[in-house]
Amino acid sequence: MSPARPRPALSAVPLYAPDPTPVELDLSDNVNLWGVPPAAARALREPLEAKPNVYPHSDPVALREALARNAGVSPAQVITGCGSDDVIDGALRAFAAPGEAVAYSAPTFSMLVSFARVNGLEPAPVPFRGDGDIDPDALLARRAAITYVCSPNNPTGTGVSPAALERVVSRAEGLVLVDEAYGEYAGPSAVALLPRAPQLLVTRTLSKAFGLAGLRVGYGLAAPEVVQVLEKVRGPYKVNVLGEKAALAALAEDVGWVRGRVAEAITIRDRLRAALETLGLRALPSAANFLCLPVPDSASLGRALLGRGIKVRVLRALPGIGDAIRVGVGPWEQMERLVTTLREVLR
Ligand SMILES: *Cc1c(COP(=O)(O)O)cnc(C)c1O
Repeated sequence: MSPARPRPALSAVPLYAPDPTPVELDLSDNVNLWGVPPAAARALREPLEAKPNVYPHSDPVALREALARNAGVSPAQVITGCGSDDVIDGALRAFAAPGEAVAYSAPTFSMLVSFARVNGLEPAPVPFRGDGDIDPDALLARRAAITYVCSPNNPTGTGVSPAALERVVSRAEGLVLVDEAYGEYAGPSAVALLPRAPQLLVTRTLSKAFGLAGLRVGYGLAAPEVVQVLEKVRGPYKVNVLGEKAALAALAEDVGWVRGRVAEAITIRDRLRAALETLGLRALPSAANFLCLPVPDSASLGRALLGRGIKVRVLRALPGIGDAIRVGVGPWEQMERLVTTLREVLR
């Protein structure tokens, strides 16, 4: 018997396998390091009304309504998914045929490139501009079926200027996917462009600022026509009963808590930047809840930190940047421990 043969494009897809070493301080995933918001935590402790032996809502209408209210759009403009990863993956399948291109500014979210390849699409990276902003004309010149803009960008943290974003959104020929996984930490949202942009999809998530990464609730905001197409490619039961319950509680009662932690994260991020500079580490500009620090050898620095109980994201040979580490921002005591440990390790 001959072995089953995977699709050739998969040979270029790395396995997403973050280091599983348990640590005392995990700063590698940009999640909310203050924890789960209080109303969501209470909802998770209550008994479930929905029975887990039956399926969740195929279309979680109440959740779509709450997300719509939160974003200032109509419920027909909301698609939900098992994390925003799921919405991004579905959008790549729905709006590009195999062999077509996905344009993006590199380096960006590693899963975007993997999802493109898994869906048989061609990754079409373009460089960022010298000032760290996206280069709208370089993106538009790829004439891709899908143009992806991560705002703020992971892993660099840099924000995208409203002018550059508007230029891409108003001129792109295919779908423009704006990934706002860290939108709560940044300035104006691309959601404001939706009324004028029939080909715009903005993806957001409850995994980062909303502190619910383990429950896997993400969503997309777009014109109803785009949402209807995404509904076709979405599997039927992507948001599970616990995720739906916690998300509803968080959207109803935790928005103030989330805003408070976001403001704190921004203050601490800038304080951390200054503390790192005294160690000779210069972080890239950040509009998110993490800092990207170019270093000569990220693998050895990552190993040294891991040996002292701290996990950071190790980034190798980023285009235009080189090696770097990415660290999530959390309560100041956690950041102090990072700075103290870095001081020891770099000595
Ligand atoms: C974390 C992250 C996501 C996805 O998060 P989900 O948990 O799947 O919602 C999407 N995009 C970027 C840039 C991220 O960093």
